Amino acid sequence: MGGLREVDVPRLPLDRLRDVIGDGRYDALVAAGDGMRDRLAGRTVWNVNSTASGGGVAEMLRVLVGYGAGIGIDVRWLVIDGDAPFFEITKRLHNRIHGSAGDDGALGEAEAAHYDAVAARNATPLLEQVRAGDVVLLHDPQTAGLVAPLEAADAHVVWRCHIGADAPNSWTQEAWRFLEPFVSPAAALVFSRRAHVPDWAQRSARRVTVIPPSIDPLSPKNAPLDDDAIRRVVARCDLPEDDGVPLVVQVSRWDRLKDMRGVMVGFASQVVDAVPEAHLALVGPAVDGVGDDPEGAEVLHECTAAWESLPPDARQRVHLVTLPMDDVEENARMVNALQRRATIVAQKSLAEGFGLTVAEGMWKGNPVVASAVGGIVDQVVDGTGVLLDDPSDLDVFGEALVKLLHDPDGMAAMGRRAREHVLAEFAGDRHLLRWGALLDEVAS
Ligand code: UDP
Repeated sequence: MGGLREVDVPRLPLDRLRDVIGDGRYDALVAAGDGMRDRLAGRTVWNVNSTASGGGVAEMLRVLVGYGAGIGIDVRWLVIDGDAPFFEITKRLHNRIHGSAGDDGALGEAEAAHYDAVAARNATPLLEQVRAGDVVLLHDPQTAGLVAPLEAADAHVVWRCHIGADAPNSWTQEAWRFLEPFVSPAAALVFSRRAHVPDWAQRSARRVTVIPPSIDPLSPKNAPLDDDAIRRVVARCDLPEDDGVPLVVQVSRWDRLKDMRGVMVGFASQVVDAVPEAHLALVGPAVDGVGDDPEGAEVLHECTAAWESLPPDARQRVHLVTLPMDDVEENARMVNALQRRATIVAQKSLAEGFGLTVAEGMWKGNPVVASAVGGIVDQVVDGTGVLLDDPSDLDVFGEALVKLLHDPDGMAAMGRRAREHVLAEFAGDRHLLRWGALLDEVAS
C-alpha cells in the first residue's frame, strides 16, 4: 500500500456559473457561499474516497472541491489506499448494497477484520492532518472504517453513500449488517435518494439527509465543444463521424450492473435490422485506470467476447470504446464529445445510485433510453426519454431504441426538455446549496 494521496483540483470561481444559471440563482449561491466561508473559517473540509478518477464520485468531487475552494473554503480531497483483498470486499459491498450478489464471497468476521485493518492503516496518516473541529466527508463503503477514528479525534464526520437499492433484499441486508457498525458513529449520513436510506438509518437518531448529485455545466465533461473538436474525438474512437448516422451511446464503468453486454445484445437483436444506418458505442475507461474496481477487466473481457460472437453485420455497427484514463481532463473531453455526438443516450443499468451519465447526456440535449432504477427515475421525467420497467428485457430495450430512432422530431423535443430539466434540478449550484446547509448544521 502506498498510503493516502491528495488530489489537486483547480479552484473554480463561482462567477463563471452566472451566465448558465441566471442572476437569481447566482445571487443566492453567492450569499450562501459567503455564509459558508464565514462559518467554516479556521476549519478544513476534507473529502475522502477511494479513486481520483473513473466513476461518479470522483467526477462530483472535482466539481464540489473546485467550487468550494472558489468560495474561499479550505477544502481538500484525499484518496485512500487498499490492497486487492480490501477492494474485493468493498466491491462485494458495492454490489450487495445494490441488491446483487456480485461474487460468492462472504462478509463475515474475517472480512470485517481485514477491512478494519486497512482503514486503520489509512487513519494513521489522515489523523496527522485532520484537526479537531474539521469537517470530514467520507464517501461510500470504502471509507466507512474511518468514521470511528475520526470521530474519536473530534472531527465532524459525514458519511455519504452514493449507492443503494430501490427495494431491500437479503443482499442489501447483509451489506448493511457489515457496514452499520462502522458507519454508526458518524454525525450525519447522506444518501442520493430517499428510497436508498436503509431502515437502520431511518430509525437511528442521527441526521439523515438526501442530496442528489449534480453536474457542472462548465467542466471539461460538460462545457460546449466545437464541431471540429467533437469530430476529432469521434474519429479517434473509430466511430462514424457523419451526424446523419444515428449513434446510440452508453458511457459506463465496466461493471456488470451497468449491463453493457445487455445493451449490445438488445441493439444487435432489434436495431441492426430495423434501423440499418444506426450504430452503437459502448464507452468505458481503459481498465487498468480504475484501481478500486477489481471487476473491470473481467467485465470488459466478457463484453469483448460477446462482441466477437455477434453476426458480422452487427459487429460492424457495435463499437467497444475504451478511453485513456491517464489524463483526467482529456478523458472528460472525450466523454463530452461522444455524448454530444450521440443521437440517444442509453443507461440500461440493472441498479444505479444516481447515474451521472444520464444527467450528462441530457445536458447535451439527448433523449434517454434507460432503466427505471435508482436516481435515473428522478432524472428521466416525462417527455425527456423512455424509462424501462424491466431492465432485463433486452427486446423491449431494443424496441424502444427503434421507436425513437424512427421519430427525429420526438427525439429533438425530448432532448430540449432533457437539457432544461437538468439545468433546473441538477446543475452544481443546487448541490452546493444543499451541502452548505448540511455543513452548517454539522459544524455548528
Ligand atoms: N466516466 C468517465 N469515463 C469513462 C466512463 C465513465 O469519465 O470511461 C464518468 C462518467 O462520465 C460519469 C461517471 O464516470 O461522470 C459515472 O458516474 P455514474 O454516476 O453514472 O456511475 P458510477 O460509475 O458512479 O456508478
